[in-house]
Order: sequence, then C-alpha cells, then structure tokens
Amino acid sequence: MPFDPEQYKHLFREKKKNPKRGLKRPTRAGARDPIVIGADVGGSTIRAALIDNDGSLLDRLDVPTPRDDGNALVRELARVCGMLIEKHPRVTVRAVGVGVAAWVTNPEGIAIQAPNIGMRNFPLRKRLKQLLRTPVVILNDVDAACRGECAVGAGAGNANVFCVFVGTGVGSGMTIAGQPYRGATGVGGELGHVKMIASGGELCGCGDRGCLETLAGGRAIERLILESNQERPDSILAKKTAASGAASAAALQAALEEECPEAARIAAGVSGVLGLAIANALALLEPDVLVLGGGVIQNCPALFRLTCGAIRHHAAPSLKGRMRIDKAMLWDHAGFMGAGFAALRLIHAEQPRPAPPAGKQSAPAKPVPIAGEE
Ligand SMILES: [Zn+2]
Repeated sequence: MPFDPEQYKHLFREKKKNPKRGLKRPTRAGARDPIVIGADVGGSTIRAALIDNDGSLLDRLDVPTPRDDGNALVRELARVCGMLIEKHPRVTVRAVGVGVAAWVTNPEGIAIQAPNIGMRNFPLRKRLKQLLRTPVVILNDVDAACRGECAVGAGAGNANVFCVFVGTGVGSGMTIAGQPYRGATGVGGELGHVKMIASGGELCGCGDRGCLETLAGGRAIERLILESNQERPDSILAKKTAASGAASAAALQAALEEECPEAARIAAGVSGVLGLAIANALALLEPDVLVLGGGVIQNCPALFRLTCGAIRHHAAPSLKGRMRIDKAMLWDHAGFMGAGFAALRLIHAEQPRPAPPAGKQSAPAKPVPIAGEE
C-alpha cells in the first residue's frame, strides 16, 4: 500500500486541541511530558525512538533507509514517526531530532552533502517540519551519537568530552564546558577529514585526498585487507576474510588472534595513524574523557587496544599519563538517543525552565536501560 504522509499530520500536537484526550487516564509514557522522537539515519537502517524528558527510551522502531533522494528520506522519516505515535496514541510528540550521515548546517538543517542517501544541499529540516508540523532539529549522525554518549553513555557526568567513532569512515564530536560544539555553522569537528598526507593519497568521500578516514576507517581497512590478500592469498588473514565473507574489522580481529603477521601490519598502520590524529586533537582540546566507538572499534578489540597505545605514545607532554579513554557504551543506540536529546534541548530553549534554587544541582543523567541488551 503506498504511504500517504498526509495521514500522519493530525498525530502531532493537534491532540492537545481535543478536550476528550485530557480526560483519559494518561499512559506511563503520556505522564512524562515532553516526549520527543530521536532518529538515526544510517546507510542501511533508520533507527527511531520515543524518548521522554528524563532521557528514558519508551519505544523504538527500525526501518530500511531509502537511498533514492532527500524527498524519499523525508517521507520515510514521517512514516516512522507516525508508526511510533500510532503505537502510543496518548503521547504528544513535541519535537523531532534526526541524525544523518551528512554535513549539516545549523540551525537551518540543510544536508550539504550526503553521498550515501543522494542528498546535496537538501533542506531536510524545512521539508520534515512541513510534513510533521512540529519543531525539528537535524544533526550530523556522529554529532548525534556523541551527544548520546555525552548525555547518558561513556561521557556522562563530564563537562568536556571528545568522541571518535570509527565505522565505515571516521567521525568525531565534542562537548565543551557542557555544551555540544560543532563549529560556527555546524560542519566542524570532523576529525575524519583532517589531512594526514600533505599531497596525494587515496580519494576520500568528501572529494579530497589524504584524509584520516582514507587511512583508518572501515573502508580503508577493507581496502588494506583486500590488497594484502591479493599479495598473500595463503595468509591467515585471507582465510579469515573468506570465512567471514567480508574484508572487515571482524576478519582482522580473527586473524590478529592467530598472530597473523599481515593482520598485525595492517592493525599497526591503522592504529598508528588513528592514534596520531587523536593525540593531536587531545592536545588541542584536553577533554575530561575521550570516548572511542563505532563498528570497527566494536568488532576489533585488538585495534581498540593498539589505538589507545598509539594515542598515549603520541600524547602531548602535558597530557602524558593522565588521559582517560573509555569505550562507547550505547552502541547503535547512541545516534537516536543523541538526536532525541537535541530535540529536548530545542523544546527547553523555546520554553526556558526556571533555574534550580541556589546550591541545588540537578541530578546527573543515568545510563538508559536498553531493552534487549544485557
Ligand atoms: Zn575527507
């Protein structure tokens, strides 16, 4: 059945106009106003969740990401928001936050470049707001994940947090003095596109050459494994690649566990360049904690250990021996949680709350219990 986004328009805000709604006993979710939707648009999956004012996850849905263009993405986002609200008919969604793999201007929410989804200079926030008729905030996906980790994950309770995610590419984000920081127009904080080669190097997704992610992201690791396997088809790494069906971080981990010299060479190179770039960023920022996450870090614990070693090796003298490095905690929940927190910030910015009495601090956010995880 073709999806008609018009059918979901009434689900936002207009419930408040219905006096009968107010007379009904509120559900557990309805009792905690405001409620927001946080969505994380990945290359293959949109993860969307209902999140309440305390940062608790009320429900979530995963749907495939349409990769045709921005309009298809907007329609799908509206559909998934409608599906969540249909499941919780007494909830009023006050804002929607979306993290998307794109350079996004702030606050306009224009996706300047998103090659995986086919968007270029696409007014994502404006189009989504037109459909949903509710406040919308658009973020870069890694920025959203960092906000999630900073608020309720590995960075929780710290004022200065630097997050680096090594997935298909390399992304980063930061909280400075308790505030998310993304530069003057929203496209800063891109450690993945820091130049590690002065001239030449592999072509990056950004159109330039020699970026960190061409040397240390998941795509770079895949290329390095395939090159190695071509040279040494009888290596342990080549066998692990064939067994796992992909030249992935998991295959690299399996080969490292069997002391494969080819895998060790790749891991040393990747962790070395990653450690150098991160150590330089730490010298600039001096965060309370560095959070390392992303699929590559998740699937290759050896690479996490080696990268920590390289960061400490390259650390500025002022930071030697006193850097805190933590692994990301929220895994694939970080993006939609962070996008949800950005939506909550939007509401609170519109309606500032009275300051707490002098000397009384609000309790720090607690990690969110996540359904289906240990
Ligand atoms: Zn680049």
